Amino acid sequence: SSYLRSLVVGANTQVPVASGGYVIATNFDNAATTPPFCAVMDEIIAFAPWYSSVHRGKGYKSIVTSDIYEQARQTVKQFVCAGANDTAVFTKSTTESINLLANVLANDGGEKLILATDMEHLANDLPWRRHFKVDYACLDAFGRLSLKNVEDKLQQHKGKVALVAVTGASNVTGYINPVHSIARLAHKHGAKIFVDGAQLVPHMPFCMSKGQATECIDFLAFSAHKMYAPFGAGVLIGNSEDLLQAEPLLWGGGAVDLTSQQFIEWDAPPGRYEAGTPNVMGVVALVAAIRTLEANDLEMIHQYESSLISTVIAGLTDISGIRLYSVPTCDDERVSLISFTMEGIDHGLLAQALSQEAGIAVRNGLFCAHPYVEKLLKISDEELKYYHTHDDASVPGLVRISLGLYNTRQEVELFLRTVRRIAADPAFYAKKYQASMRND
Ligand code: PMP
Repeated sequence: SSYLRSLVVGANTQVPVASGGYVIATNFDNAATTPPFCAVMDEIIAFAPWYSSVHRGKGYKSIVTSDIYEQARQTVKQFVCAGANDTAVFTKSTTESINLLANVLANDGGEKLILATDMEHLANDLPWRRHFKVDYACLDAFGRLSLKNVEDKLQQHKGKVALVAVTGASNVTGYINPVHSIARLAHKHGAKIFVDGAQLVPHMPFCMSKGQATECIDFLAFSAHKMYAPFGAGVLIGNSEDLLQAEPLLWGGGAVDLTSQQFIEWDAPPGRYEAGTPNVMGVVALVAAIRTLEANDLEMIHQYESSLISTVIAGLTDISGIRLYSVPTCDDERVSLISFTMEGIDHGLLAQALSQEAGIAVRNGLFCAHPYVEKLLKISDEELKYYHTHDDASVPGLVRISLGLYNTRQEVELFLRTVRRIAADPAFYAKKYQASMRND
């Protein structure tokens, strides 16, 4: 684990705590963003002398830069075993990738609908709502996606579903969805499948083309900043034929072939969807992150993170007053994150206490997955609206810890010790941090 820790930048950064001193920060908020790999930062520096415009120049550096940028598509595709006819479109983020795909599919016209699920991040929900009628496959009693309901909904809509949009792994509960089985169901009913890979691909090996042709994933998106590269680069992978049909989301130079004032000839994908000067530095960083993940064996990383999260789950289960929002599962059914609440202290105050008592960074709230958390907490739309209109009311939510490959067993132990300490007297900590929040 000390070797894995040495892979990321800033693992030993010190942060202030309530006692007045400093401690080494524990970052348990990797589902939001991961720190960059040292190798990624090195690659950025190494590439800087070649930094030049893409696709436009005949200068040597411009040609080198363009080659690096184009080769990056192959690296990204190989990373997730994309199909031979798939293309990788570089975007800003998973959110932009899904907006792009929704725009492409909306061009197809017709009365089709999208089947999303009750456990989606808003990035894999709102872009669909913008263009389509959306139905949602529901959860089982443990907050997991009900495969039976996916099949029932596909049957019920009688070939009208254009696409099943599902997350590879939830950013709230950590549950991994059996996306290849869902692909089989989708294809059986004439639909395609999109997988939101933002929380999945940084944590375990993922293959778009797996098993039989009917089990392959049609579209996949993910973000560099959740896989140890900086913000600002993302990718949408899908069949170039499927991506051919639409007008782009962004119009401008680079997206067209030849264009007069009378006509526009769009370029073929991926160029068609990359108007403007692309983020080459971001793509170079993404490739360096992929190489580092591959060099360190994603299966091994998954095993390591799974053993840490199992210790967290076992530890939290033993603390009275803690409620977990997902059930313990096998390693291949969860990525390394989990959400919980503690009786007697609001989620915001608990997150604040973890930070101020021990330098542990976690996330709290609704995690941009409001409908999912609403269902897990069994609150109604009316209640959510009430919180929206009453500033003084404390919005319900959860506390989430999400691990990365550089987290250690010692950090997990520190976290469990701190949670135990808070759970022994939650009212004391609630009061302490209520006051400090008021002073902010
Ligand atoms: N999907 C999931 C499951 C996520 O966790 C996130 C980020 N929290 C996103 C999509 C959106 O990613 P980005 O902010 O990089 O667009």
